[in-house]
Amino acid sequence: MKLDINYFNVMPREEFRVLTAVELGMKNHEWVPPRLIEKIAKLKRGNAFKCIVELLKHKLIEHTNQTYDGYRLNYSGYDYLAISAFKRAGLSLSVEAKIGVGKESDIYLVRTSEGKLLVLKLARLGRTSFKSVKNNRDYIQKRTQYNWLYLSRLASTKEFAAMTALYQHKFPVPVAVFHNRHAILMSFVNGFPLQRLKSLKDPATVYNSLVDLLERLASFGIVHGDFNEFNLMLDSEQKLTMIDFPQVVSIGDKNAEFYFMRDLRCVNTFFERKFAFISDRTVDFSSIKWVHRLDQEIKASGFDQNDQPLVG
Ligand code: ADP
Ligand code: MG
Repeated sequence: MKLDINYFNVMPREEFRVLTAVELGMKNHEWVPPRLIEKIAKLKRGNAFKCIVELLKHKLIEHTNQTYDGYRLNYSGYDYLAISAFKRAGLSLSVEAKIGVGKESDIYLVRTSEGKLLVLKLARLGRTSFKSVKNNRDYIQKRTQYNWLYLSRLASTKEFAAMTALYQHKFPVPVAVFHNRHAILMSFVNGFPLQRLKSLKDPATVYNSLVDLLERLASFGIVHGDFNEFNLMLDSEQKLTMIDFPQVVSIGDKNAEFYFMRDLRCVNTFFERKFAFISDRTVDFSSIKWVHRLDQEIKASGFDQNDQPLVG
C-alpha cells in the first residue's frame, strides 16, 4: 500500500470535512449513507457529493450500493486523518522512503518541516485477509474486515504506550514521538536488524545483552512476545535497540512463561544457526524478581479501556 501524501497537501478543506464525517459515521454504520455524511459535514447535498466524488477518485474512501448507498474509509483515508492530526500538533511531514513492510504494518522514513528524520509506522492489520475476503459475501467475514481499522488503532495505541513506558525506564527502544489512530511517529534507528548481519565480532557479548534484556523486561512485568532477529537492531557501535511492541504480554498473563521461553528460544536458534554460537547460560523464568510492574502502567495508559470501536 502506497503512502502518497501529495494530495493531502492540496486537499480542499471541505473534502477533509467529508472524510472526517465518513469516519464519524462509521462509529455506528458499516457503510455510511450520504445523507448522514452531509449532515455531519454540515454541507449542502451537491457540495458534499462533489467532495465524495473527489475522495473516491483519490481512493481515500470506498463505495457500496449493494443493500443501500454507502461509503467507508479505507487505509489511505485513515492515513490522511492521522497525518492531519500530526500536522495540527505541529508535525508537518514529508515522506522520504518506505523502509519496511511487515505483515501488519508499513514503515516510512519521514522528515519534519524542521528537517528532522523520523519513522512513521502505520498499522495495517488484516491486510492479507483484506484481499481474500474482498469477493466473499459472508456477512461475518465482511464485518471482520470492517473492523480492521479499529484493530489497527488498538494495536498502535498499545505499541505507543509500551514504547513510551519502556523508554522512560531506560530500555533501548526508539523514542515514541507522537501517536494518532493507527500511526506512530518515532525516532529513526540508524542500524540494521540482526537478521541482516553477516557476522558478529563478539556473538557472546551480543547474546548476553539480549538475554539480559529479556530478563530485565520480565523483571519489569513484560514479555516482548516477538523477540526475534527482525525486531532487534544493531548500530555500527554495536548498540542494540528493540522495536515492534503491539504484542507485548504482561507477566501476569497465564501464558507469560510460554511467551518468554519462546522469545529466548528465538534468540538461541538464531545465534546457533547464524553464528554457530551456543551459550551455556541457564535462564529460569520463575526465579526472576519483579522490580516494577510496567505492564500495569501500560494498561493504565488506556489501550484496552473502553475504547470505542469504529463500529460496535
Ligand atoms: P512489523 O510489526 O510489521 O514487524 P516493525 O516495527 O518490526 O514492524 O518494523 C518493520 C521493519 O522496519 C523493521 O524490521 C526495521 O527494519 C524497520 N524499522 C521499524 N522501526 C524502525 C525505526 N524506528 N528505525 C529504523 N528502522 C525501523
Ligand atoms: Mg517486526
